[in-house]
Amino acid sequence: MIEFNHATGSLRPALEGANILITGGAGFLGSHLADLLVSRGNHVYCLDNFHTGRASNLSRLQFSNRLSVVQHDVTDELPDTLPKFAEIYNLACPASPVHYQADPVSTAMINCKGAWNVLRRAERDGARVFHASTSEIYGDPEIHPQPEHYWGNVNTVGPRSCYDEGKRFAETLFTDFGKTRGVTVRMVRIFNTYGPRMQPDDGRVVSNFVIQALLGQPLTVYGDGSQTRSFCYVDDLIRGFDLLMRSEVADSPVNLGNPGEFTMEELAHLVLEITGSRSPIVRLPLPVDDPKRRKPDISKASELLGWRPEVSLREGLLKTIEYFDGELRRQPAAVISAAE
Ligand code: NAD
Ligand code: UDP
Repeated sequence: MIEFNHATGSLRPALEGANILITGGAGFLGSHLADLLVSRGNHVYCLDNFHTGRASNLSRLQFSNRLSVVQHDVTDELPDTLPKFAEIYNLACPASPVHYQADPVSTAMINCKGAWNVLRRAERDGARVFHASTSEIYGDPEIHPQPEHYWGNVNTVGPRSCYDEGKRFAETLFTDFGKTRGVTVRMVRIFNTYGPRMQPDDGRVVSNFVIQALLGQPLTVYGDGSQTRSFCYVDDLIRGFDLLMRSEVADSPVNLGNPGEFTMEELAHLVLEITGSRSPIVRLPLPVDDPKRRKPDISKASELLGWRPEVSLREGLLKTIEYFDGELRRQPAAVISAAE
């Protein structure tokens, strides 16, 4: 059945029973996407080298005969043994500054060689292909909030460049495969997203603050804490992925994120209040090139897809805190050592 919404006119029906590839499928976002696609009756192939992903993220699906896990590095040509895909979601890439800066050459190569391998497979299979880009392509933005037509303010040779410029190049490659090789492309620029299955050791602000608060350790605010971010709960984001992939109208990048804007100081206090933790706040140096403000302009997603986030930061944090609290009870040593 075709769904209608006020803006798009039509969405193509959700695929059922199709073979769908998710690169980075064992990661935070990839595993939530796999849950959705498997629940619809698709056969989902999660291709991952487990650099930052974990098999346990897919444990809900471990007995499903509609999930196949393929251990593979996306920068190597995709295996010929894989079936023909109707859709490919390209999510493979470490996402947190700590991880993507640990091996910057690898991060840059994932976004060129990896993107090339994914696009060539999409071209061969006639698959619709989705690419996870990022708000980082706006760099340290000079206009606020950031609309898609803003070209950004990015350092080409700083510590974040491997990721920021890598993702910018990938957008170019996806766009040109769309224009010149007949591949149907969907691209999303994701703004900071959080929720259950974030890795305890990934160094992102939400996981850091939540774990620190639960363990009674100091919350590490970088700089003076006045820099802002806009935090989107994972369920809202995955709903946006699905709408964008099924949309017939959006072949250029679309921002997805929650426009609520918070300073890191505000976030720290909110985490302390919700957890009831008495942890102190400590200041650590601000990382180089850390963007000062970030907030998505989501007019395009709203007009083209009828998409808006529904989960407030407080509600989303509650669910995320509940998740990390459960993890701490189940495997305290693993979470504590990862967070150190
Ligand atoms: P994540 O680190 O949890 O997931 C990335 C996955 O990719 C992991 O499972 C990892 O093992 C895998 N991977 C990394 N390098 C690989 C390689 N060479 N070959 C195969 N697999 C590889 O991060 P995430 O938050 O789930 O991010 C998923 C995607 O979304 C990334 O492309 C990221 O850049 C993008 N994104 C995420 C956010 C966010 O806030 N979560 C924001 C902007 C963009
Ligand atoms: N940050 C912080 N304390 C932490 C981790 C991060 O104050 O323990 C800050 C960081 O400097 C940045 C913001 O929180 O200003 C978001 O950082 P994150 O790494 O989560 O994402 P990104 O910088 O990629 O948006």
